[in-house]
Amino acid sequence: MLHTPAYAAASARSALAPFTIQRREPGPHEVLIDILYCGICHSDIHQVRDEWGGSIFPMVPGHEIVGTVTRTGDHVTKWKTGDIVGVGCFIDSCHECDACREGEEQYCEQGMNATYNSYERDGSTPTYGGYSTHITVNEDYVLRIPASLPLERVAPLLCAGITTYSPLHRFGVRPGDRVAIVGLGGLGHMGVKIAKAMGAQVTVLSHSQGKREAALALGADDFVATGDPGAFKANALRFDFILDTVSAPHDYNAYLGLLKRDRTMVLVGIPDPVPLSAAPLVMQRRRLAGSLIGGIRETQEMLDFCAAHGVASDVEVIPIQQVNEAYERVLRSDVRYRFVIDMASLKGGGNG
Ligand code: NAP
Ligand code: ZN
Repeated sequence: MLHTPAYAAASARSALAPFTIQRREPGPHEVLIDILYCGICHSDIHQVRDEWGGSIFPMVPGHEIVGTVTRTGDHVTKWKTGDIVGVGCFIDSCHECDACREGEEQYCEQGMNATYNSYERDGSTPTYGGYSTHITVNEDYVLRIPASLPLERVAPLLCAGITTYSPLHRFGVRPGDRVAIVGLGGLGHMGVKIAKAMGAQVTVLSHSQGKREAALALGADDFVATGDPGAFKANALRFDFILDTVSAPHDYNAYLGLLKRDRTMVLVGIPDPVPLSAAPLVMQRRRLAGSLIGGIRETQEMLDFCAAHGVASDVEVIPIQQVNEAYERVLRSDVRYRFVIDMASLKGGGNG
């Protein structure tokens, strides 16, 4: 076993603090990854604070992982020592159900094995995430990182990137479509960049005027502050597609009114429950859907798409010792747009 420095929360009410976990030497089909960077996703905060229920403690969060392969199991064929790779939101799944066979492992019918706050396939070994120096993962659940993108800016693609790419792609967003991205945080800013790269006309819907300049600087064509009086009336029936990334409860019914007839709003944000009325769906035959990250194949496709279009996340790199402060800032929407932990801060050296 490898003694591995990490940061963990001991309970839903504790701050993250230094902690040691054990990683195993890679099995025949596994690789050991030296973690360089790990993004901070709002889902880390929801789970550390047990906002979705059933959290497993101690918890080492982190599912936006980029690192270097340092050891490979005897039968590994896909990776070699020195490869730069990524790990996203899950590290295994059943491999056998329809979802797994179709490359949609995140919807595994037996339940995917999440990168943290979950158990391995044995049902008893807890999974620990990327706020740690190393991770051991099955080679099939590892992504190839394109060489052209700065690594600290790639880490958030492993969750924020795929979570926005997947619905934009699957719901068929086309050049010229009027797309609204609701919430300009970690997911939202990736939604803007990816939708723009797909050729859409992008409008950011943000809860205040504060991010107007930043949204336009990111490439958005228009900006609406949803807190302004009359904002919903003025933008009724305007959009072909709405991607809602907001982490806090808000009125879905009002946002549905912004869709044209027959169009779809996809929820990726996971706030506490909100009442939903039939009327805004019925009146214009609108659809409301949800979407969860993306499978391994699609995540690789997203990474390659981002490399081809020069798309990466806008990040603020921090040492892990500042993680608790960073959580508070995420909750205040005070980050442009993703915190990324430089794991050198946990190793006592530099990533160079
Ligand atoms: P984030 O960086 O905190 O961004 C969330 C955004 O929501 C904020 O930037 C803010 O945008 C808006 N917001 C926050 N509080 C609000 C409030 N009180 N009222 C209205 N708007 C508010 O979070 P994230 O990492 O992007 O994650 C967003 C959500 O997606 C979380 O719930 C997370 O768990 C979920 N998630 C889902 C998946 C999936 O697979 N479906 C994957 C990853 C994350 P404005 O300031 O622009 O309004
Ligand atoms: Zn995430």
